Amino acid sequence: MTLNSLNDTYRLNNGVDIPVIGFGTWQTPDGEVARDSVLTAIKAGYRLIDTAAAYGNEQSVGEGIKKSGINRHDLFVTTKLWNTDHGYQNTKKAIDTSLSNLGLDYLDLYLIHWPSPTATRAHWAELNAESWQAMEEAVKAGKIRAIGVSNFRKKHLDELLKTAEIKPAVNQNYLNPSDMQTALTSYNDKLSILNEAYSPLGTGGLLQDHTVEKIAQAYGKSSAQLLIRWSLQHGFLPLPKSVHPDYIKANAEVFDFEISPADMKLLDGLHGVGKLAKDPDEANF
Ligand code: NAP
Repeated sequence: MTLNSLNDTYRLNNGVDIPVIGFGTWQTPDGEVARDSVLTAIKAGYRLIDTAAAYGNEQSVGEGIKKSGINRHDLFVTTKLWNTDHGYQNTKKAIDTSLSNLGLDYLDLYLIHWPSPTATRAHWAELNAESWQAMEEAVKAGKIRAIGVSNFRKKHLDELLKTAEIKPAVNQNYLNPSDMQTALTSYNDKLSILNEAYSPLGTGGLLQDHTVEKIAQAYGKSSAQLLIRWSLQHGFLPLPKSVHPDYIKANAEVFDFEISPADMKLLDGLHGVGKLAKDPDEANF
């Protein structure tokens, strides 16, 4: 696939088109920082905004969207179900709360944020099935265009697929050269589930890696641009986050170079140079 601009899209398994890069908002403080960084991102051309109920900034993200004046249909907004809201009734309520916080009348994508929260770990499978049913109903009611999951491993997907009427369109995971999670991304591919890559820069931790810096320099690009491009060349959908206008703009300038197969291999070989993906069944939240 040739990639030309932030307006390029992947097609989800339900026919909905999703921009190839998204703008992340985790740890972006609520208030004017969230509002202004979203506004800057939209002005810079990003069309996908990734937030979550747990980030505590949905309201400000919504203000940034409104302030941008962009046509709602030209934007793709993702938010996520938090761990304390698993189950049928809770999920129904959580969807409406997120819509109201964001000031939107529909979401483009809604994800189960984590598969097995500590408080309800003994019942994770049935609670995911229940949440999923509520999400499917919201799709049918026109409140959500696509539904998916995040941090789901094979066993969580397999379990969900036993009862799901609508297949997950997306699985959003920690994906960067430090942890490519190849078995998982291949399994998602096999199921036609798009791999969204969170922490494409290793939450900043990979930017000073010597190999990353050296390869980036050879292309006249920053470490961040190289890592975002690496993600795209793997067919992932990277979600870089920044609150700095210069970084926000620069992180989108990844369409004017191509990483060679040899350099892709070098980057693929960086397993463990930064953090690894968290095992969702061992997360303490
Ligand atoms: P990331 O995008 O890998 O890295 C962000 C960090 O890198 C920030 O500290 C940022 O600093 C810095 N940065 C960004 N661009 C830079 C540049 N060009 N030069 C230097 N530093 C730069 O981190 P992430 O927030 O972990 O992941 C991205 C998004 O994925 C999140 O925001 C969220 O939307 C999503 N996510 C989802 C989950 C999940 O469980 N589903 C988990 C984690 C993240 P400044 O902000 O100070 O510029």
